[in-house]
Amino acid sequence: MTIRTLIWHEHRHEKKNKLVASLYPEGMHGALKKAFAGDSDFVVDHALLDDDEEHGLSEKRLAETDVLIWWGHAAHGDVKDAIVERVAKRVWEGMGLIVLHSGHYSKIFKRLMGTPCSLKWREAGEKEIVWIVNPNHPIAAGLPECIRIEHEEMYGEPFSIPEPLETVMISHFEGGEVFRSGVTYRRGAGNVFYFRPGHEAYPTYHNPDVLRVIKNATRWACNPARPWTGIHPAPNVPHDKAPYPLEVKGPRLHEDGQEGFR
Ligand code: ZN
Repeated sequence: MTIRTLIWHEHRHEKKNKLVASLYPEGMHGALKKAFAGDSDFVVDHALLDDDEEHGLSEKRLAETDVLIWWGHAAHGDVKDAIVERVAKRVWEGMGLIVLHSGHYSKIFKRLMGTPCSLKWREAGEKEIVWIVNPNHPIAAGLPECIRIEHEEMYGEPFSIPEPLETVMISHFEGGEVFRSGVTYRRGAGNVFYFRPGHEAYPTYHNPDVLRVIKNATRWACNPARPWTGIHPAPNVPHDKAPYPLEVKGPRLHEDGQEGFR
């Protein structure tokens, strides 16, 4: 099947900062798109925070998305809560979600994790070695034993996320800190992957190994089954509609026979 991939990008730094604009003349989303170049398994598009009132994430657009990739940093607060809920619902239904770098503090990641998702950080252009600790995981397919990134922002533990389903990568930084930099979750029917590298001041999304991780993760996150689609309403089952005849016993909240919350 073709994996309908949507790259969501805040796209503010490139407009305001010359360094970021020079590193990513086509935007970070343009660089991320190259991860999928020439691979007919993927159809890739992008949506930007300032695209429209819905940040480019209409119901229709999300319904036609198998995997959403998310990069945000300076404008997490500008993402409307209603859109965050819409994305969360789609993840529960089975849409994959890849959260990159500073997206650890995005509303959608915190919503799905339910924890602060905080960490330590330092911007010193230091070396990062991303060690693959789960080499047989599909997200690690075709990768060397570690990914070397010459200049990156440091993220350090403790990273206040729930215990991951799987830890695929752990980063080591020149200054000595370590960080769980590639972790998976399942939320509802949705596969979620957090991947650390990608500070806007460095050319990280031109690194072929980093792009390979993002492509592998997109393939891994796709769940065509969508088993939870359409089951969000919590319908009441009247006692006379139970599979076996049922005698109503004991006190009930609603004596008029209408069961359930109203
Ligand atoms: Zn950063």
